[in-house]
Amino acid sequence: MKVIVTGGLGFIGCNFIKYILQSHNEEYKILNIDSVTYAANQSLIPEFERFINYDFQKTDITSQKEVRKIFSSFSPDLIINFAAESHVDNSITKSAEFINTNIIGTHILLEESRRYLEKSDKADSFKFIQISTDEVYGSLSITDSSSCENSNYKPNSPYSASKASADHLTSSWFRTYGLPSIITHSSNNFGPYQHKEKLIPKIIDNYINNKKIPIYGDGKNIRDWIFVSDNVKALLTIMKLGEPGEIYNIGGDNELTNLELVSKICDSIKKIYPDKDLATLSDAVEFVEDRPGHDFRYSMNSDKLNKLSNSPYLSNFEDSIVETIKWYVEVE
Ligand code: NAD
Repeated sequence: MKVIVTGGLGFIGCNFIKYILQSHNEEYKILNIDSVTYAANQSLIPEFERFINYDFQKTDITSQKEVRKIFSSFSPDLIINFAAESHVDNSITKSAEFINTNIIGTHILLEESRRYLEKSDKADSFKFIQISTDEVYGSLSITDSSSCENSNYKPNSPYSASKASADHLTSSWFRTYGLPSIITHSSNNFGPYQHKEKLIPKIIDNYINNKKIPIYGDGKNIRDWIFVSDNVKALLTIMKLGEPGEIYNIGGDNELTNLELVSKICDSIKKIYPDKDLATLSDAVEFVEDRPGHDFRYSMNSDKLNKLSNSPYLSNFEDSIVETIKWYVEVE
């Protein structure tokens, strides 16, 4: 299967490619297109390039001309769109980049997929996978039930609004043009290769280096956390078995307040490195002014995904956190 991966040097995209190259190498030929923003993991380029079924092209998905050339020369069976501006805080100060990549870029990929399929014999098997987020469903209260695939969209940040727009474009390319597209919504991912601007790498880095851990507001906001490898496994299931026109939620079944998360990570770090002189939790945390429009809680119902495949995709959170901590402290 020939797969275009956009944003394949980013956190989730690079874990996706790494997993495929290491575990399903013979099944896929991958073309990674990434514009290599500040969020790209460039250290992985030589590692990936050792594989003959992997190719990389530095390309911006907002360049229609480039994207068109890539479709015609590579003839993909599937495109999976990870490319995005992904950090909510940045979307508050630099929204234009989010509109450009997340909305205009997705529009170009959809339109070029449609054009490509008009002339290709792959129309019956082709899939367009749009990677989206639980944040499009907006903020839940503590008593609200988890968001299902047919829950209303209520995005609150420029980031989630740009992702919601891209989802609507993707659905409309299915309804209007029959483009066989699938949308996935995942919870907050954690694991190796995530940029240090994000919460979990920041907690690990600051705690181990005896720096304060900044926590928004009162630390009671709730997020659902999924290990990036679990998300990758779920994505492969959806690629194989998912139905065009459908949305699949990929939840982590693991809701924690930000303070609970910090506490779990700090406890794990203390256990892994008992000889390190580390602060108490109350000394380590510094409450900072809340993010404007900060959503209180995200939670997703993943029953639809669980019905798609019998094999469970979720690993044990504590084990995955230990693996993640060790990667940031000992490998990165
Ligand atoms: P990331 O910021 O780590 O990586 C994004 C990648 O896209 C980078 O390599 C960057 O260079 C590339 N990129 C950015 N703009 C581009 C452009 N115009 N053209 C080509 N490449 C471009 O993001 P991530 O955390 O890996 O997220 C991947 C996708 O998953 C995003 O669509 C995001 O919305 C979604 N998502 C992420 C999470 C999470 O917790 N990280 C949760 C749910 C959904």
